[in-house]
Amino acid sequence: MGTRASDRSRQEVARALLVFGEELDAIEANRLSTVLTINEPANDLLVNDPWGFLCGVICDYQMPADRAWATPYNLSQRLGGWSVELVASRPMEVRRAFLGPPAIHRFPNQTSGFVIDGARRVIDSYDGDASNVWADEPTARDLQRRLIEFKGISQKKAAMAVEILYAQLGVPIREMEGSDIAYDVHVRRVMLRSGLAERDDVAHMVEVARALHPERPGALDLPMWEIGRTWCHKSAPDCDSCVIAQSCPRLVSAADGVRGA
Ligand code: SF4
Repeated sequence: MGTRASDRSRQEVARALLVFGEELDAIEANRLSTVLTINEPANDLLVNDPWGFLCGVICDYQMPADRAWATPYNLSQRLGGWSVELVASRPMEVRRAFLGPPAIHRFPNQTSGFVIDGARRVIDSYDGDASNVWADEPTARDLQRRLIEFKGISQKKAAMAVEILYAQLGVPIREMEGSDIAYDVHVRRVMLRSGLAERDDVAHMVEVARALHPERPGALDLPMWEIGRTWCHKSAPDCDSCVIAQSCPRLVSAADGVRGA
């Protein structure tokens, strides 16, 4: 069990995280387009095609995010086109396209299965249009539930997708107080080292975020993820450069047991 900071210290950390989150939102607002991967054509597909985005969420695991998010575009290049119908109707081609060589995902067999299943689900449950997953202005909680029904989308990815759709892609989503942080390795490290959470447990961390920022718990997600990726490294965290250095108690060893990608 780790150490949980005092309520006051935790509130200070949460405030610092939200300030950093606003800075990240301002950077995002000044960009011409949302950037989910540095690969430009791959990013265009994610940002402009709902099935591309949904497929990107499904593929975003066990690989560096830039490469994982480029999977839908790489798949479209190998298939010579892009639609849910194409993916659902040509499963063998999709599996071969994933395998390559080179493979377009670290787990080509499993991920191609998730993607084919996702395309079929969009056809069967959402009239073949992935935007219908979120087009009816759902509540954050309902949308998270719908996303988790897709194979390959966990709590972590569903919570992340709700935040991206709402904050970066401008999708109307109601009751963002029902949004959540994603149980991601970067988020977990920051929560433990900053004393926000006392144990590495998804339910506990989700509850901590809900209590700290009930208006929109998910708003704490991106700043923690960015801090984890940029400064709060697994080994040798760069505390002196970290944006929450002034408020963080720097409980570095509290995250020693955090594993995962
Ligand atoms: S890098 Fe250091 S200051 Fe920043 S969150 Fe991690 S432990 Fe805290």
